[in-house]
Formats: sequence, structure tokens, C-alpha cells
Amino acid sequence: MDVRRTAVVKLDVSDEQRDALHRTAEQYLYCANRTANYCWSNTSYAECKTNKRQVRDALYSELREETDLQAQLVQAAIRRAVEAIKGVVERWKKGQRVSRPTFTAETMDYDTRSATFYRTKASLATVDGRVELPFVLPADSPTPYERYVLSEDYEFRESTLRYDAVTDEFYLHISTRRTNGGNDAEVPADTGPPDQTVLGIDLGVNSLAVASTGTFWQGDDYDHWCRELEKRRGEMQQRGTQAAHDALLRLGKREEAWRKQYIHTVANEVVTEAAEHDCDVIVFEDLTGIRERLPHAQWHHVWAFRRLYKYVSYKAPEQDISVEQVEPNHTSTRCSRTDCGFTHDDNRHREQFECQKCGYEVNADYNAAKNIGLRYARKRQHRLRSSPTSGSGDAEVDLRINGGTLNGESHQPIAGD
Ligand SMILES: [Zn+2]
Repeated sequence: MDVRRTAVVKLDVSDEQRDALHRTAEQYLYCANRTANYCWSNTSYAECKTNKRQVRDALYSELREETDLQAQLVQAAIRRAVEAIKGVVERWKKGQRVSRPTFTAETMDYDTRSATFYRTKASLATVDGRVELPFVLPADSPTPYERYVLSEDYEFRESTLRYDAVTDEFYLHISTRRTNGGNDAEVPADTGPPDQTVLGIDLGVNSLAVASTGTFWQGDDYDHWCRELEKRRGEMQQRGTQAAHDALLRLGKREEAWRKQYIHTVANEVVTEAAEHDCDVIVFEDLTGIRERLPHAQWHHVWAFRRLYKYVSYKAPEQDISVEQVEPNHTSTRCSRTDCGFTHDDNRHREQFECQKCGYEVNADYNAAKNIGLRYARKRQHRLRSSPTSGSGDAEVDLRINGGTLNGESHQPIAGD
């Protein structure tokens, strides 16, 4: 199974380092805004430049000369701006109101060449060379940082440094991925454009999101922080003074920005997951009535589900991946083995799924993610077959699962699922 985690860590920053980070961010924003200017066209989306390599070739040397930024940071700023332009172009194509993206928040993307992680600190590239920043880790142990970033089972992927102007603190959002995952079996190449490969996504309370490839986005950090902030909100409300009221408003704004950023990161990872597995479609369940279906979900869960769906819908088309929804009925109580499909409430016990008919045992959210993908695959296959004009009666619609693919109709595991 392939698991990705995002941990948020506060940094202990000296005055001198703070100055270096702010100046780095300023130059990074300069690069991003210069790039956005270069790529943008007011006349038509067709004239906007969205080819990362071409944009980099045109701007990289200039930006290196104009700034003191390290090579990776210049490239990251260019990449961020081109991604933003692509997103805007997609919305423009759909006839939505758009404008040139501008970058004002002090947020920088680091990868393994611009950041190094140690047990208690990170070393980050700045305009003054590397700075070493100790982590401020919460007392409750093991923290998500210790569990996912330091664990040998996880490899560091990338991180985003964010400056929070309200608290005047720097935070690192660190993204990791479990390394002992299944080796992706090669899928026989099939021809014909109507073929589709599908990634199913289940949203839930146990795990924020689970993909049919077996990747889990646990969201423990998200839960943890929402609970902490809830507690603090409660304390402030009790105080009832004007100062407490103002602090409450500030806290609310900060919290919303933080939650958005978190879900953004997960949405990007979901799209990357689909792209890395050559999926053409990401399938979610229809979120209408999600409150009734998930009685244990709190408001911040429901908010996260809707946001995640929305962000993925924006981001996926940039990679030529479409996003669909299917009816949610029985996706959690149906057996996802395609030669079984037995549906019963007793099949599911909290996080565990055990089919009462065939004995298939698997994580319940993973079972649901497979069902969501399969439901879409079956529907599409059926539509293609029954359409007399499509001429694509033998098109394949496959679901990408952990270590292989599943066809909507016959069970063809390539490696075990
Ligand atoms: Zn079964």
C-alpha cells in the first residue's frame, strides 16, 4: 500500500533567520509574479503560455541574475506560476471570469535539493545560504512528524514553507510517501482512445481520502488541529470580552486559511496519484446527503470533503484527467470482488470489511474506493456497448487498484489486491 502524509511543523526562527526567510520569500514572489506576467495574455487563453519547459527556458537565467535565489527555488517559483496560469486557463475555457494570478502570500516550495530534514530540524536554502531551523514539536508523542517524516518507511517528497502573518510564525507543510509500497505491475498496452483507466476515491472519517490504488490520506493532522482550534474557540467565547471577540475573529480567519492550504496539498497529491498511475478519470461519490450517510462526520469533515472535491475538479484537467461522481449507495457495504458483489450491512465493521458470503477481508475504506471506481467503470462500459454510433463496443474501462487493474466485469488481478 502506498501512503502519503502531510505533517505541519512550526519552526523556531531567530531574528537573523527570520530576516533571511522574508527576503527569500520576497524574491521568490518576485519570480512568481514576473513569470505570471510573462505567461499571461489579456486577449485570449490561447495566448497564455502554459508550457513549463518553454517558460523556464525563457526566464530562468534572467531570474537567476536578478535575484540571489538558489536554482531550485527559482525553478519552483516558475513552476508555481505556470501551474496557476494553467488553472486559470481551464476556468477561462469554461467561460468563468478570470484574471492574471498574483502572488502575495509568503509561501515557498522546497524539494530534496533545496531542503534537508533532520530529526529535530530542517535546513532550508535562503538568499543568505542555508539556514538550520529547529522544529517546535508538540508534547504529545509520537507527533505526526515523528511518525511519518522520520520513519524509515516514509520518504520525504516535498514541503511548503508558509509564513503566517497573524501569528508571525513560519510553518513547514511536509509531504511524505511510504516507500515499501507495491511495485506497479505493468499493464498490457491496449490501443484505442476510448479506453479509460479509473481512480476511485472514498472520502470518510477514518481516513480523509482513500484511493483505489491503496493510497491513504489519513488527515490526522487535520483532525488534530481542528480539535485544538475548537477548544481555543470555546475558551475565548467563554471570556466574552471585546478583546476575546477580536481574537476569535482573527483565529477564525487563520484557521480557514490553514484548512484551505491543507486540503490544497491533499488535492494536489490526489491528482498526482492519478497521473502517476496513468488514470484518465478520478471518481468520487456524489456528496449530496453526505451528512446523513456519515453521522459521525463533524462539520470540518464535511467541509473538507466538499473542498477536496472542488480543488481536485480544478486541478485534474491541467493533467488531462477528468473528474466524475457516482451514486454513493452501498459503496461501503458491497463486496468489491467483482466475482462476488454481495451487499449486506454486516459486511462492514467500522474500519474493517469482511464479506459475509465470500470471506474477502480488507480495509473498509479501500473496499469503498474500489466500489466507487468500479461503479463508474461499469456504467461507462455499459454506455459504450449500448451506443450504436460510438463504434467503441470493445473499449476497456479499467479500475486502477493496488498492484494492478480490475475490469468492471471480470476479475483480473495482475498482482494480488
Ligand atoms: Zn464477497
